[in-house]
Amino acid sequence: MGHDFPGDSTIWDDASALDKAHVFHSWSAQGKVHPFEIVSGHGSTLVDGQGREYLDFTSQLVNVNIGYQHPRVIEGIVEQARLMCTLGPGYANLARGRAASLVAKRAPEGFSKVFFTNAGADANENAIRAARQFTGRDKIISSYRSYHGNTGAAIAATGDWRRKPNDYSRGHVHVMTPYLYRSPFFAESEDEECARALEHFEQVLRFEGPDTVAAVLLESIPGTAGVMVPPDGYFEGVREITRKYGILMITDEVMAGFGRTGEWFALDAFDYEPDLITFAKGCNSGYVPAGGVIFSDEVAHAFDERVFPGGLTYSGHPLAMASIVAAQEAMEEEGIVANARRVGEKVIGPGLEDLKLRHRHIGDVRGKGVMWAVEMVSSRDDKHMLDAATMAAIHTKAKESGLLVDVHDNRIHVVPPCVITDDEAKAGIAILDEVL
Ligand code: PLP
Repeated sequence: MGHDFPGDSTIWDDASALDKAHVFHSWSAQGKVHPFEIVSGHGSTLVDGQGREYLDFTSQLVNVNIGYQHPRVIEGIVEQARLMCTLGPGYANLARGRAASLVAKRAPEGFSKVFFTNAGADANENAIRAARQFTGRDKIISSYRSYHGNTGAAIAATGDWRRKPNDYSRGHVHVMTPYLYRSPFFAESEDEECARALEHFEQVLRFEGPDTVAAVLLESIPGTAGVMVPPDGYFEGVREITRKYGILMITDEVMAGFGRTGEWFALDAFDYEPDLITFAKGCNSGYVPAGGVIFSDEVAHAFDERVFPGGLTYSGHPLAMASIVAAQEAMEEEGIVANARRVGEKVIGPGLEDLKLRHRHIGDVRGKGVMWAVEMVSSRDDKHMLDAATMAAIHTKAKESGLLVDVHDNRIHVVPPCVITDDEAKAGIAILDEVL
C-alpha cells in the first residue's frame, strides 16, 4: 500500500526537492546529498533545470561513450519498444542475437558467446561464478587498486575502501598492481615495476596455493582507482603465470571497454587473451541498463552438457539489446572509437601535459583515449596528496565555470564522452587551467 506524503503536492514539479524527499542515494550520507537537476543533453553537453549547459568531462559514471541523446540509439530503442518491450531470457530474439554477435565481435578470436546482465557488477559476479564452476576452485585474486561493482562477490573483489563494510563473499585475495608514480615495489622504471609486480603476483599465488585459486580478475586499465595504464608485459606475464597454474583470467572491461581508451577493448593494446571478459557501460552508453560476460569458447563449452547455475529475469532485455545494436553500429559507422583515440593523442594528452608544466600542484598525468587522471599533490617532492577541501573546491569551481569533472581522492579524472570534439576538449582544458 502506498503512503500519503502531504508535502509532495507542493513540490511535484521541483526535481531537486522531490529527490531530497524521496530518493535514497548511493555511497552517500543522505543528509549531505545536494543533487542538481539535469533535464537533457546532447553530444558531450548536459543541460540543467535552469537551461544552463555544462561541458561533461565525466560521462556521468564514465559510461556515456556515445554522448547524450544519440538519435540512432533513441530510434533503435523506440522501434524495439513498438515491437516487443519485454522478453524473458529463454526465448530467441533478433535484437538479442544481434547484440551478442556485435559484442562478441569486439573480443579476440574464439570468444563466441555472451551472457547478458543488467550492469557491470553482475557481469563480474557471473564471471567469478563461471570461473569457480569451471575450475572447481574458490579463490579470486584481484588488485587492491580496483573497483568491480557493488554486489556480493564483485564488491569483495574490489580493492578500495568500499569492500570493507560489504565483504561477505568467500576466498578473495588482493595484490598490488603496477603504479609507477607511487610504486609499491620501490621501482624506478616501468620495466622494473612490471617485473616486480609479476614476482609479487606469483609469490602471493604460491603462498595462497595455486590449486585453490579459480581466477585472477583485473581491470584492463584500473579506472576508479586512478587510471594506471599497466606497463607493457604485465598482462602478458600474468597470463603466463595463470596458464602455468591452470588459473583463469577475467578481464574487466566495464569502464575501459567500447572506445574509452581509443580501442574497442583496452586489452587490444596488449598481447594476451583472457578467458572471460566482462563489460557494461560503453556497450550502449547506459541508454538502457546492460552488461555481460563474453566467454571464451573453451569455458563456454564446459557448460554444453552441464548447467550454468546463473540467470536473471532481464538477461538480454529487448530494449537493452536494441540499444546495444544501435550504439555498436553507430560507433562503428561514425568512427567514434578512432575519435577517442585521436582526441586523446592530439588534444587531451598534450593539453594535460601542458597544464602540468604550468601548475606545480600537478604531480602526474596519465591515461589514453578519453580516460585520463591528473594527480594533484601539495608538492612534487614529497608527493603528498592535495587535501580534500582543495579538491572539493576544484570540483565546485569547475562546475561554476560550466565544466563537470570527476574528483576521486587527490585526482581529477578527465573522462569525457568518446564523441568529444577537439574544440570541446580544448575548451574544457582551458577551464581547468583557469580553475587550477
Ligand atoms: N567494473 C568496473 C571496472 C567499474 O568501473 C564498475 C563501475 O564503475 C563496475 C565494474 C560496476 O559496474 P556497475 O556499476 O554497472 O555495476
